[in-house]
Amino acid sequence: MIWNEHYECLSREAMRELQGKRLHETVERVYANSPFYRKKLQESGVTPDDIRTVDDLPKLPFTVKTDLRDQYPFGLFSAPMSEIVRLHASSGTTGKPIVAGYTRRDLDAWSEILARTFSAGGCDRSDIFQISFGYGLFTGGLGAHNGAERIGASVIPASTGNTAKQIQLMADFGTTVLCCTPSYALYLAESIEKMHLSDSLRLRVGFFGAEPWTEAMRQEIERRLHIRAYDIYGLTEVMGPGVAYNCSRQNGLHINEDQFIPEIIDPVTLRPLPEGEVGELVFTTITKEGMPVLRYRTKDLTRLVYEPCPCGRTNVRMEKIKGRSDDMLIVRGVNVFPSQVESVLLEFAETAPHYHLVVDRENNTDTFEIQVEMRPEFFSDNMSRMLELKKRISQRIQSVLGISADIKLVEPCSIERVEGKAHRVTDRRNIYS
Ligand code: ADP
Ligand code: ZN
Repeated sequence: MIWNEHYECLSREAMRELQGKRLHETVERVYANSPFYRKKLQESGVTPDDIRTVDDLPKLPFTVKTDLRDQYPFGLFSAPMSEIVRLHASSGTTGKPIVAGYTRRDLDAWSEILARTFSAGGCDRSDIFQISFGYGLFTGGLGAHNGAERIGASVIPASTGNTAKQIQLMADFGTTVLCCTPSYALYLAESIEKMHLSDSLRLRVGFFGAEPWTEAMRQEIERRLHIRAYDIYGLTEVMGPGVAYNCSRQNGLHINEDQFIPEIIDPVTLRPLPEGEVGELVFTTITKEGMPVLRYRTKDLTRLVYEPCPCGRTNVRMEKIKGRSDDMLIVRGVNVFPSQVESVLLEFAETAPHYHLVVDRENNTDTFEIQVEMRPEFFSDNMSRMLELKKRISQRIQSVLGISADIKLVEPCSIERVEGKAHRVTDRRNIYS
């Protein structure tokens, strides 16, 4: 197994010491170079001298998505444009996109954490990587690309789209490793089955991320593609993919703590939560030059696990992301995450992991419909069998989520397939009415 002994196996004390030193340097950097942060720090009454160890983190102000939007495009950069060598942006489904700038050293650090990710999944220079994350402004494509090159693998910059051609390439080039969103992995699996090409492929490992997916979905992808599927987490504001990664134990994601300090806060009181509690994940970058961020609120919900991992790595793990606080639906007063629905639907042999949630309001009451596809082998016009299945699913939904839902069984392949991130919810309620 290859790993970076310097950063993946440090004692907790040594890691904290390194983090304290780098944190201080980062605060000095933003204070000197970013008018935005200098003002924010001055307003909080903090100078770089006040920040010496990880315990000083709570003294720092938070950074939120709207700060980045308001500073569009380059207002948060802490390096002159002459040192910025790459620009990326998040898709920005609402409002202006968020722009990230990287110096040469930032790109180097980013490739390093992806190299760690791929090595942790047992990949090396003998592998052929197909990068089917989108290339372009999205960080997934080029991010994963550079990491795969760093470990010396052969890299196919496939990007997304043209699914039949992607699969042909996989067969012809002997792709062994696939990187894309879990939704696209499932779409590829389905298309491979239709093209009867399963036996012509040499795929053995996949790295999937950029959207929440459940453990049950991971197992489904492993079974359909005959691979080991690893989770890879990241976000544009902090770096891109590779902030955290699965090791071979596939039990939580190790955070690259030498570059990013994680905290878990209560999203309402904004206080740091005790170890082990679920809350909002917050990151402070401690090596970035182009666009360092202090206490960036990700809106992603998870918990941190400091217990040593049997793999030997000592860096902290975060549990699989439960969902984004943005994605949380409140239906009839109950909090619902799409991931909870996903894990219930995957318990049933008859349904496929393609689903869509529709929330609406009728007569002042929320309606909640779960559309789920049938697997082709179970799809039938036998009404009583379908009704019986609906009943079983709605009972499970009621017991897991604590609310009732209207289950709508739909034909195989009728829910939209995506090449990037899935859109799982339509909320038609007019909150102003
Ligand atoms: P955009 O904002 O355009 O969607 P990003 O790629 O920066 O672009 O999105 C980052 C977000 O994607 C994260 O904050 C998180 O919500 C989600 N995400 C990324 N990787 C994972 C993962 N492995 N598991 C769950 N969610 C993820
Ligand atoms: Zn581990």
